Amino acid sequence: MKFTYAAYEDMLRTLKEDYEFISFSRAKFGREKMEKKVLLRHDIDQSVEKTEKIGEIEANLGISSTFFFLFRSPFYNMFSYDEEKIIRKLIAQNHFIGLHFDYTGYSFKAFSQLSNQIMMEAEFIQRYYNVKVDAVSFHRPFDVEHFRRLELGAYPHAYESVFLEEFKYYSDSTGRWRFGTPLESDTYRNRENLQILIHPEWWNEEELESLETVNNYRKDYNAKFEKFLQSEMKGFWDSLKQKNQ
Ligand SMILES: [Zn+2]
Repeated sequence: MKFTYAAYEDMLRTLKEDYEFISFSRAKFGREKMEKKVLLRHDIDQSVEKTEKIGEIEANLGISSTFFFLFRSPFYNMFSYDEEKIIRKLIAQNHFIGLHFDYTGYSFKAFSQLSNQIMMEAEFIQRYYNVKVDAVSFHRPFDVEHFRRLELGAYPHAYESVFLEEFKYYSDSTGRWRFGTPLESDTYRNRENLQILIHPEWWNEEELESLETVNNYRKDYNAKFEKFLQSEMKGFWDSLKQKNQ
């Protein structure tokens, strides 16, 4: 399967024929039988911009998914002016917002302390965006068994038994399908529940090598940095020009 928008759309269209796409909250709290359900999830590690196209493809098919954002990322700021606009658009398209939690930014001695930090981030997102945070996923978890025991009250998290046991997990990490392609799997053939993790960063209009995708990201990131540097420090650049005249 190609990592192109067209291939992605085809996959969703096919899944939609037999499956229902549901949120993590509904899967956990909904008390309905989990049959022919898909949890479609996006962990946003680097680029909020690339969620736009994926969000649009899904919305055009009437599909809602959950976009998990990092509260503290070295690459983006989910509260910045430009990024907020994209996230609000996702919300308007009926997508769900989740917290992608990065524990490495915190020092914690007990698991209860970690829960407090997660809740703090989730509650801030909820208040700022005025939406219910659908769920929490973990950025590079160190110990799945450990996370599995975590209980976050109103916020379901990706390592809870209900998601691990009732949904077969597929992920496109590093630009390839780590556990096989969903549509070529026995899980799909038997129409069993799927959890599909898609990182929008790896998907493009045309098929590209993974390294090319990363290099494009680097180029776009640097161009954005340069643009901000020019506009934010306009007075400084102008004063330099005057000095040199
Ligand atoms: Zn991540």
